[in-house]
Amino acid sequence: MIIYGSKGSHLRTAPLAGTSCPACNTPEAMKASVYARYAHVYWIPLFPFSKAAMAQCDHCQQAWEEKSLPTQLQPVVRELKKSTRFPLWTWAGVAVFAVIMASGAIAGRFHERDSKGWLTAPHAGDIYTIHSPGDSTKYSLLKVLSAKGNTVEVVANEYEIDDRSPLSELNSPEKYSKESESLTVLDLQIMHNKGQLTDVDRPGK
Ligand SMILES: [Zn+2]
Repeated sequence: MIIYGSKGSHLRTAPLAGTSCPACNTPEAMKASVYARYAHVYWIPLFPFSKAAMAQCDHCQQAWEEKSLPTQLQPVVRELKKSTRFPLWTWAGVAVFAVIMASGAIAGRFHERDSKGWLTAPHAGDIYTIHSPGDSTKYSLLKVLSAKGNTVEVVANEYEIDDRSPLSELNSPEKYSKESESLTVLDLQIMHNKGQLTDVDRPGK
């Protein structure tokens, strides 16, 4: 279960200089408070989305919500709201997500670099994700039995599924053909360039 919602937080309270109380007429007794509303997930603030204000008289204690604010107080309260910034912590969740996204992108780049190296220097146990672009959305696997010089012995998986990462579902020994075939490293490169070989996995790496 994901717990999310919105919360309010007090940002600041400041006197409303040059005003008097609409209720008791006491000069320089008015103050206003500004609150932020922010979205949260699991109580981690994600991002702020609105500000609210209220005004109160220090003398008679009469208070006004923003929507029922007397006209003469509206411009000063609006100014106070405008000059009150959302504190950085209300963006904490967005910052956390940005860091997660950035590290995901970095991990993705490392994987791609490894895969290219693995394709030019195959190892027994490497598994290629294969796909016929254009024809279908189906993906299957080729497993390297042995690699010697420029030649690799592979067995084809006899199943194909609608998943760009079929490894976890298809990679069990009984799903592979008993017949192996030979390919060259050049064949693999060509298949990769044509988009027929979309990924290389080296289990354990
Ligand atoms: Zn008052």
